[in-house]
Amino acid sequence: MSLQPHDGLSRILLVGTPALHRDMRWIQLARHGFACVPVMKRRYNVNTDGTADIQAIVYQVGARTADTLAFLESVASRQSDVCIILVGRNQKPDMVAQFLRKGAFDYVNWPCSLSRLTDSLISGLRNRQTFLEVRTLSEDLANANRSLAQERDALKQFNRRLAGLNQLTQALARSLKPDEVVQALFAGVPTLTGAELIGLVRTNPERVWTWSKDGGQEREQILRTQLLGRLGRPPQRVTSGAATLRLVGSRSTSLIKSDDSSFAHPQQTTQAMHDIPLAIGPHAIGVLHVQRAGSQPFTEDEQQLLATIGTSLSLTLRNADAHQELQDMALRDPLTGVFNRRALDEPLMRELKAGLRYKTPACLMILDLDYFKTVNDRLGHTAGDLVLQELASLMTDTVRDVDMVGRYGGEEFAIILPHTSIEQAQPLAERLRNLIETHAFDVEDGTVRLTASIGIAEVCNPAIAAVEDWVNAADAALYEAKAQGRNRVVVHALAPLAPVQAAALCAA
Ligand code: GH3
Ligand code: MG
Ligand code: MG
Repeated sequence: MSLQPHDGLSRILLVGTPALHRDMRWIQLARHGFACVPVMKRRYNVNTDGTADIQAIVYQVGARTADTLAFLESVASRQSDVCIILVGRNQKPDMVAQFLRKGAFDYVNWPCSLSRLTDSLISGLRNRQTFLEVRTLSEDLANANRSLAQERDALKQFNRRLAGLNQLTQALARSLKPDEVVQALFAGVPTLTGAELIGLVRTNPERVWTWSKDGGQEREQILRTQLLGRLGRPPQRVTSGAATLRLVGSRSTSLIKSDDSSFAHPQQTTQAMHDIPLAIGPHAIGVLHVQRAGSQPFTEDEQQLLATIGTSLSLTLRNADAHQELQDMALRDPLTGVFNRRALDEPLMRELKAGLRYKTPACLMILDLDYFKTVNDRLGHTAGDLVLQELASLMTDTVRDVDMVGRYGGEEFAIILPHTSIEQAQPLAERLRNLIETHAFDVEDGTVRLTASIGIAEVCNPAIAAVEDWVNAADAALYEAKAQGRNRVVVHALAPLAPVQAAALCAA
């Protein structure tokens, strides 16, 4: 018998003896939608024969029921979805029950009617169809669960990042001091991105900050050099060991190319790196550079995160600059750029306290131009202003960095000289007086020559117990200089106090 499967028929593998194969019922099954493929039972191999496209196996139970059980077990072990119908003669009910438990869908006592056979096959295949649908559904469900779990993990990570970002932006906004802002940045960015080396370069004023996870100064130094290279010049002053490096002067903001990828990693290990341009509107104000170990580049999400940090950082630094400018403005004299009278109050008090408590010497100089009124009267107020500006520069250039020059009012200037005794202050005042006397002040239509009178008072003076006393003492010396004919330096003479009282004041 040769039964070939053809389209539209369910393929049934008929595993049995030739006698079983010869039965007409298998041919008649074709009318009911089944195509039977006979396989000799003794040559049948469950692992290789007829596994593809087979929807059901009709298996003939022989005298050795153990063979049938073994067949059922091996089908079950392959997790096959094929429907198994057993045909046999006079099997005992408990054996039949065992067959069914092992995975057979039905047991048909042979010979049987065609309808019994078709009923069994139809319901077996229906059962198989239902099983396949349930299996597909549960696979779909498992897939949906998996992708839900992935989305949940991504959402969790996103939430964590968002919380971290929120924390960082709050920390950035907490201070208006650039160094503190950068400290908060270096504390937050590694947690959020796994960065191990960070660099921040700023223009206007030019500054570079670096941080590394392992505190590797060499790595940071190389990064600093690279960042400075971006500003277009080599480092001028490096603070060794500290995380900051400062440049003198200022440059135009256009030097930073935000798309420059010229950073080479200092140590030739694999590093992922990313640059975030910092800008306020169209103006570049710096670059944030992050590196981490491993070849995994910064993902789009991480780059987005860093861009948000960059925006927040740019705004915070801009605010810090604006704050600094406002503070400077509040403490500076607008005409000459030196400190104003109010700005001198705090250092005067500080030096006074140090003088009274520890006898730390300090001097206050008050300088007043001689006959300055005539400059205004003869050459005009604008010329007078130019003279005052030039005088302020002259004084600032002459004194030390630690000294403070301020405009005390009109054409009167004060200079605080910390850690300076009267013996040291006097020659400095004389030098300044001489410099003014010999200087030709530029005004619009030529030059003007002027002189100045200077009064000096030392803080550790028995007559001085308050800032007001100190200023009055220097003022009195200035008045004396004017009285003696101007263009001279006069040191405040000690008040005639009893020695005990003087000692008590100095020790207070
Ligand atoms: P001396 O101190 O030697 O006694 O004579 P003086 O002519 O300098 O006298 P005084 O100190 O009284 O005059 C100060 C003058 O300084 C008066 C004022 O016209 C001028 N002045 C004060 N502030 C300014 C300023 O901001 N700009 C200009 N151009 N002049 C100023
Ligand atoms: Mg004057
Ligand atoms: Mg005056």
